[in-house]
Order: sequence, then structure tokens, then C-alpha cells
Amino acid sequence: MILRSSFTKLPQVERAVRRFSSTTRLEQERLVILGSGWGGYEVLRKIDKKRWNTTLISPNNYFNFTPLLAGCATGTLEFRCVVEPVRRFAPRVNAYSAWCDSIDFKNRVLHCMPATPPFPYASPSDTFNAINEGKEVHRPGGGPSFTIRYDKLVIAVGAYSQTFSIPGVKEHAHFLKDVRDARAIRSRIYECFEQANQPVLSDIQRRNLLNFCVVGGGPTGVEFAAELHDLLHAEMARHYPSLARLSKITLYDVAPSILGMFDEGLVKYTEKSLKREGISILTSHHVEKVEAGKLFVKEQGEVPFGLLLWSTGLAPNPLINSITELKKDESRRSLLTNAHLNVLKLDGTPDPDIWAIGDSATIEDAPLPATAQVANQKAKYLGKKLNKMVKDQEHEESFEFHNQGSLAYIGDWKAIYERPEGKEKGTPFSQEYGRVAWLLWRSAYFTMTLSMRNKILVPFYWFLTWIFGRDITRF
Ligand code: FAD
Repeated sequence: MILRSSFTKLPQVERAVRRFSSTTRLEQERLVILGSGWGGYEVLRKIDKKRWNTTLISPNNYFNFTPLLAGCATGTLEFRCVVEPVRRFAPRVNAYSAWCDSIDFKNRVLHCMPATPPFPYASPSDTFNAINEGKEVHRPGGGPSFTIRYDKLVIAVGAYSQTFSIPGVKEHAHFLKDVRDARAIRSRIYECFEQANQPVLSDIQRRNLLNFCVVGGGPTGVEFAAELHDLLHAEMARHYPSLARLSKITLYDVAPSILGMFDEGLVKYTEKSLKREGISILTSHHVEKVEAGKLFVKEQGEVPFGLLLWSTGLAPNPLINSITELKKDESRRSLLTNAHLNVLKLDGTPDPDIWAIGDSATIEDAPLPATAQVANQKAKYLGKKLNKMVKDQEHEESFEFHNQGSLAYIGDWKAIYERPEGKEKGTPFSQEYGRVAWLLWRSAYFTMTLSMRNKILVPFYWFLTWIFGRDITRF
């Protein structure tokens, strides 16, 4: 009895100690983080949540592990392997599923719009249809807007997909930015096979449905084409043998070669590998228009397709577009920051209370690629800085990027890896291709996986896929 009562008092004692060791929530400074991607989520993980009164605003109540999305879209991995819930940090963090629409810098107020359906009631079929049509990508949600005050602000809203205003792309192409996109793509691939399997169709109609087009020869386009090749040549060839023979993957790019950021030798190796796998690579090709199930290519004319994946780079986030009070990088249309990641006012002076990281930010005179690696390293740096700041300690060092290299999966258990700095420093594996690079690719992404749950799930699903194949049921 005595033991029990002293144990029940422990949490109270702990709470009292905590109260003395840090300020109360009302006295704490309000730190608001916009976005739960590679930048925002990592800042959230790193900051001292006992000392900051933290609020996260993001339409997603999860973080997306983007490098593994192509594998998810083709069934190599399950969807839950690539997400981390932001509610993990509740109740220390207030998280709102909302879009920040505009920032009132003068009064330090954020104007937000819920990313949830309008209340009090949305029918289950509304939600179902919205998810299946991928409408969330175009900012679903509703209900009354609200405002949030901040003392310190981290802008990490990322970027949107670039379409170059080509007519029909937004309406008829799939994008791959989010786990919901991956779900819609996977469902469409299986749907194409089920449609093509209907007895009334001619072989030409079947070929058209099983023509999978990828526009954009960057790492995302190449990795998706490679993962799709693996699916078609393993599970689809086994379960739909006559249809799999009619299927085709074509990779388009306006540039004269794919994977512009990689060394020429690695690009040649990739092109050769992809062609050997049966993937057509059509470089210097211009897509002019997209209609339902049809692509119009300048050099080819009309090309029917069953699925079109569009991945031609980044477009600015509308929130960044709406900001007129800060200095921007006009070529990238992102916010310019100094080397401490503080945003710059129009006169070029840094704002000491606002930082921008990730794809929506560029360091003045030292631009870095828009990658998870850069976003993540900036977030780690900023987390450290904010933790020192809240304890009134100095943090004078400026941000320094450590290039870990670039990796891309190219199908059939092969990958390419390049580390430009590695060559100069004589690091082993400064450039690799084939199986060794594939092992590096898998180990790198396993290591980067954030939670213990996903560190178990990711290799587990890789193993399941290897033993039993991909799940090809369509829900
Ligand atoms: P994001 O991760 O895109 O996060 C932005 C967040 O902001 C999201 O949560 C979004 O919902 C939220 N948001 C958007 N608008 C608002 C708003 N108005 N208000 C509030 N919140 C908002 N990089 C690599 O280094 N290696 C890879 O292998 C790699 N593979 C990739 C594969 C794919 C399929 C994709 C799409 C990208 C890949 N990248 C990779 C790039 C990498 O994912 C991005 O560079 C990275 O996500 C940028 O991080 P971020 O935090 O700036 O933006």
C-alpha cells in the first residue's frame, strides 16, 4: 500500500521538477513551423519541446519519406513504411492540419485554412472520391480560416510539381510527391491491367492501356520507371503473362540526356541498363499537350497511354509566391537566406526571428540542390541553433553542407552512386554502379529511415517482397 502510493506520486514530482527546470508554456516563446516534410519534421524532432511553445502547421499529419515513394507506388514497399506521424510529439506540440495561406510579417500573424473537410459532416464517399482522384494535391479542405501568432517562425513548405503550364498535365497526369500520390498510382497500374484483361478489347486497345509514360528524366522519373519495370517483369509477367508482353515503359525528356546531375559515365551506364530492361528513352522530345489517355509529343504525334507520371522538377509554393516582403531568388522563386538560414528582408538585412529551409529556400550566393539531404542537414543545424537560443547561448557557426553524394535506383537490383567530393578526398565508393551501388542505396535509405518502427518495417517488407513478391490486389 505504502509502495503503491509513493509510486503514484512519482509523476507529480516529475512534473513539478520539470516546471522548475523550464519556463511555463505561457511564458515560453511561440515557435511556429510551417510544413512537416524533410525540413519541418526534422526541426520538430530536434527542438527542445519542453522549452519551446511549439506549433506545427501542415496539411499533412505525417512526414513523407520521399526517396522510397517510387517503391511504394509499385508495391515493393507498403505505404505505412514511408510515413511518420506528427502526432508522435503531442501533447508537447500543437499540430494543426491546415495550410498557411499568408503571413502578416508586421503583426507576426499567420493566416491559415483547414486542410480537413468542412465540418460538421463530410460523407464517407466524398472523402473516398477525393482520395481516389488525388484531389488533396490541389488543396482540399474548408471551414472557417483561423490565425496563429508567432514569435519565431520556420518556413519549410517545400515546392510544388512543375508542369510548365502544358495544357492537360494537371488534369490527366499523376505526380509523385506524397504517399497519397503513390497510392493513386499503384491503384491505376493495377486498374490498367484489369481493364486490359476485359475480353471485349482489341490488342491495340490493350497495348494503349499498358503503355506507361514517364515525363522527366531526373532521379524521380528514372527510379519510378525502374521500379515499374521490376513490377511488370516479376509479378505482372507471372499473373498476367499475355498482357505483360504487351506492356511498355517510355521515359521522355526535353534535354539531350537523362539524369543531368550525374557523371557522364554513370548516365551512359544507366541508359544502357534501362534500354536492356526494355525501357524506351526518348530524350530531346517535347510534350505539347495532354488529354485523357493521350499525350501529344512534337516529335511523335499522338501517343495513347494508360498511366502518365509527370516529374519535370519543381514549381514555387503559392505561399512563397504570395510573400512580397522578403528577398527571393528569382530563378528558383524561393526565399533567400543568409548562411545562418535567416530570411533576408528586401533591404538585404536578415530577419533574426524567421528562418527558411528546404526546397522553398536558397542560401544567397551559395545555392544548393533541392534535395532531402540539404533540407535535412539545414533542419538539423536549425534545431541545434534554436535549442541554444532558447537557453540564451551563442550559436555563431554558419550552416555548412556535407555532400553525402547522389544515389538512384535503376532497376533489376542495380543502382548508381556518385559522391563528387569523395574523389578529391580519396574516399572509397566515390563512384559506384550495379549491385554494389544497389547495396549502398538500400543501406543509405535504411539508415536514413527515422523511427524504430520503420527501421523494422522497411527491411521486413523488402524481405517479404523478395520471398513472396509484390501485393497486386487493387482496392
Ligand atoms: P517537403 O518535404 O516537400 O515538405 C513540405 C511540407 O510543407 C509538406 O508537409 C507540405 O504538406 C507542407 N506545406 C506545403 N504548403 C504548405 C502551406 N501553405 N502551409 C503549411 N504547410 C505546407 N531527395 C534526396 O536527397 N534524395 C532522394 O532520394 C530523393 N528522392 C525523392 C523522391 C521523390 C519521389 C520526391 C518527390 C523527392 C525526392 N527527393 C529526394 C527530394 C526531397 O524529397 C525534397 O528535396 C525534400 O522533400 C524537400 O524538403 P522540404 O521540407 O523543403 O519539402
